[in-house]
Amino acid sequence: MVDCIFCKIARGEVPAQKVYEDEQTIAFLDIKPQSERHTLVIPKRHFVNMFDVPAEELAKVMVGVKAVVKMYEQEFGMRHVNVVCNSGELAGQEVFHLHVHVIPRWESFA
Ligand code: AMP
Ligand code: ZN
Repeated sequence: MVDCIFCKIARGEVPAQKVYEDEQTIAFLDIKPQSERHTLVIPKRHFVNMFDVPAEELAKVMVGVKAVVKMYEQEFGMRHVNVVCNSGELAGQEVFHLHVHVIPRWESFA
């Protein structure tokens, strides 16, 4: 989508602190982090949220989520994490391109 900020990040038109990329997904640091390494995992294709994403496309996003969790576990010793997908305005969704928050919870950050 032309005016979607996360589509622009996916196309490389808007800078982001990218931490992971595969064929289907990109992960980058949240600009207003709730914790160290708060990360958003998005599909490169535009979907609004959980309601319109087909299951097989969501599964690809979750592959990216798992890769980020594994990376933070190995690199920083992460042992606690919230994995969250806000879908719909009343659920707190502010950016209407599907994204999964990976919010590490640290006893102490490396
Ligand atoms: P949500 O409330 O689930 O829609 O969360 C949207 C998230 O996207 C928020 O945590 C924002 O801080 C984050 N965000 C918005 N714009 C950007 C951006 N350009 N780069 C990184 N994170 C962003
Ligand atoms: Zn988009």
